Amino acid sequence: MTRETVGSVGEFGLIDRITKSLPSKVRSHPSMRVGIGDDTAVWQPTPGEQLLVTTDALVERIHFDLDWQDWESLGWKSLAVNVSDIAAMGGRPALATFTLGLQAEVAVDDILAFYRGAARLAEASGMLIAGGDIVRSPECLSIGVTVVGETRDGRFLSRSGAQVGDLIAVSGTIGAAAAGLKLLQLPDDDPRRHAATAPALIDALLEPQPRVELGELLLASGASAAMDLSDGLLGDLPKILSASQVSAELQIADLPVASSVRALFPHDWLSMALSGGEDYELVFTASQEAYDAISGPANDFHQMVTVIGRVVEADTSGASLRMFDESGNQVPHTTGAFTHF
Ligand SMILES: [Mg+2]
Repeated sequence: MTRETVGSVGEFGLIDRITKSLPSKVRSHPSMRVGIGDDTAVWQPTPGEQLLVTTDALVERIHFDLDWQDWESLGWKSLAVNVSDIAAMGGRPALATFTLGLQAEVAVDDILAFYRGAARLAEASGMLIAGGDIVRSPECLSIGVTVVGETRDGRFLSRSGAQVGDLIAVSGTIGAAAAGLKLLQLPDDDPRRHAATAPALIDALLEPQPRVELGELLLASGASAAMDLSDGLLGDLPKILSASQVSAELQIADLPVASSVRALFPHDWLSMALSGGEDYELVFTASQEAYDAISGPANDFHQMVTVIGRVVEADTSGASLRMFDESGNQVPHTTGAFTHF
């Protein structure tokens, strides 16, 4: 049997195969008046809600490498990074569209694996896949995903509500994705590649879990500000601080860093946790009272949250972030997010 490629089946043959491969739950729903196959999708939002719209691009060799990312997890991740932005607003993800730039030689089976990964997350999140576009790309694979979500009872979380005195907390652990990336980049004979804890760290990079349930809980419990961690704590937390015009004090000893990350990377774990990025956990601020209302129920769905610091008054020079070690000494650091140019 000859191997089908994007070039041999053509754009419409490919779209047909993708559509048929999707579970019916993610391509049809009463709210989806018109799904894949017309000029546009037609979708009925919940009356009274406002729409949340987010888009993210992933480009081969910038965001991922097919030497270490398989197509199925790539499908999951390209949707997950967008769903994570909806989660950060406390929103409900509703539907997604995909734009793929492909070379003609790509195997159809690889594209179907990509959609299998995306559909797995869409189904788990109660979302629909509403269509997209497929174009030829001369060299690299490029992926553009747009997700539409909804507010909950017209309400949402933003970056600008942090108040002096609020606690600063993060979900899950930080640094695992950066450790996973480092593991994938090590030579194959490095014993750390074969550590029992390695697969979970690599998984954290390849298939991040967007924190939709936690976002909903943060909104319901009165968290004051939130965002998702795509660029690392030192890249992202300053965005909350400047939007809210406050400063922060963090305790390094309180950072939730997995023991496996500390054990495998005794010299790098702190920089992985602070600047590694791609954890897609939520960082949020909340009064003590709101935090207490969050941490109990979060445990019920196995979502760990950890206080890492406190919001303080902005300095005369503006919003800033100070970090302290166990002895109370201030630790120097550089903030700033990864920038593409
Ligand atoms: Mg974000």
